[in-house]
Amino acid sequence: MSRAPKSRPDEGRLWRPDLVYSVLLLTSAVVAVAIAATDSGFLARGYGFGTAGFFLVFGLFTIATGFPHPAFGHVSFDRVAQVMSVLVLGPVDAAWVNGLASLIYPWQRLRLGVSLRLVVTASLHNAGLMMFVILGSGLLYESIGGAIPVSNLNVGAAVVLLALVIGMQVINDVGMMLMLYMRDTDPRLVFNRFTAVVEYVSGAAGIVLAVAFTNQTPVFFVLLLTVLAAGMLVIMKYALMRVRLERLVDERTEELRVQAEEFERQATHDKLTGLPNRRHADNYLQQQVELSQRINRTGALALADVDHFKRINDSYSHAIGDQVLERVATILREGCRKTDFVARYGGEEFLLFFPETGVDRAVQVCSELRHAVQDADWSDIAPNFDVTISLGLAEMKDASHCRAILDEADTRLYRAKREGRNRVIAA
Ligand code: GH3
Ligand code: MG
Ligand code: MG
Repeated sequence: MSRAPKSRPDEGRLWRPDLVYSVLLLTSAVVAVAIAATDSGFLARGYGFGTAGFFLVFGLFTIATGFPHPAFGHVSFDRVAQVMSVLVLGPVDAAWVNGLASLIYPWQRLRLGVSLRLVVTASLHNAGLMMFVILGSGLLYESIGGAIPVSNLNVGAAVVLLALVIGMQVINDVGMMLMLYMRDTDPRLVFNRFTAVVEYVSGAAGIVLAVAFTNQTPVFFVLLLTVLAAGMLVIMKYALMRVRLERLVDERTEELRVQAEEFERQATHDKLTGLPNRRHADNYLQQQVELSQRINRTGALALADVDHFKRINDSYSHAIGDQVLERVATILREGCRKTDFVARYGGEEFLLFFPETGVDRAVQVCSELRHAVQDADWSDIAPNFDVTISLGLAEMKDASHCRAILDEADTRLYRAKREGRNRVIAA
């Protein structure tokens, strides 16, 4: 069945599907554990609250030694505590102890700035899912002959223990897939080799710990637990370091990309007016000529030059001259379409290219530009200050060379100057 992507009109709402799912999951898990406990009662294997408290703390520790994986989210070793507690306390007690640990853990994320809604959802969902994972797989394990407390690791026992760990993974994956489905995320994201390896290795460690807990002296067990806990901490530190390093590399790469973009802009644009510079304009024109040869593109090229600009510099100042250039650039850019090309081609000379535009239309645009410069309000620079431009136009039709069109436009610009300036010459 194909599913159309849901729109999210309920983005701000509290009761989104993932939270509803989490509440239902935890509620049904609590009911299931309560029903399972009616036969045996709580702490049925003779261990008291001290042992339950140990598993709660150990469970919290194994979740806390997790690390953020860039692709798979929070990866942790909680399977160690879960498997061990099933094999020592039995499925019912292991379910509520680890459920409680999963319910407590996510709240520390509030400190990290995670929203209350997400923390509540994670807390309820993790607790509900863990209770089902442990209760379901633990009951399965017992029903096919698994012994609790587990005392040996012979081949027969190993097969049943394998069923326990696989059962845990299957129930876990089904629950996670449902959660992703509720969040409108691809449920296949649950399956990846990396987290599966972490879960199965953690499961194996949990089995070894459980056997040691039941068979070995307390000293040996504590030693083994310490070594395993230290191992988890080292892996976590290493993983965090890697995550930090990768983030740093990403940041540096982004900085370099921005810097390269800026260099590229500086190399292709004029500092004063912000327009493309002569080099950029030549490349652009070359491209246009090649396109016109290949796919018969038309276009018109104009060279515009400020009239008697030297006088402005001489009579006022170079700074005023710059100001005039900036303003002429703005007028030209704003007077053209987005698809037209406007560049600063030299000192007070601009190159304009009008793609897919015939000469008549180009003459019209150039005349409008000429008027716009003449009619602009220059009075803030000096009373009676005026600026005009002259333009020479050339058509790009079956052009064989950039130089030819440029020369034609330049010749016409020169004629415009000779014939009195402030005019457009196109033929
Ligand atoms: P014409 O009408 O024939 O074009 O005369 P013109 O005075 O505009 O032309 P000319 O080529 O004699 O002078 C152009 C001047 O533009 C000379 C140069 O000092 C000045 N110029 C070139 N680049 C800049 C610049 O970036 N800023 C300023 N303020 N002046 C510049
Ligand atoms: Mg000039
Ligand atoms: Mg000039």
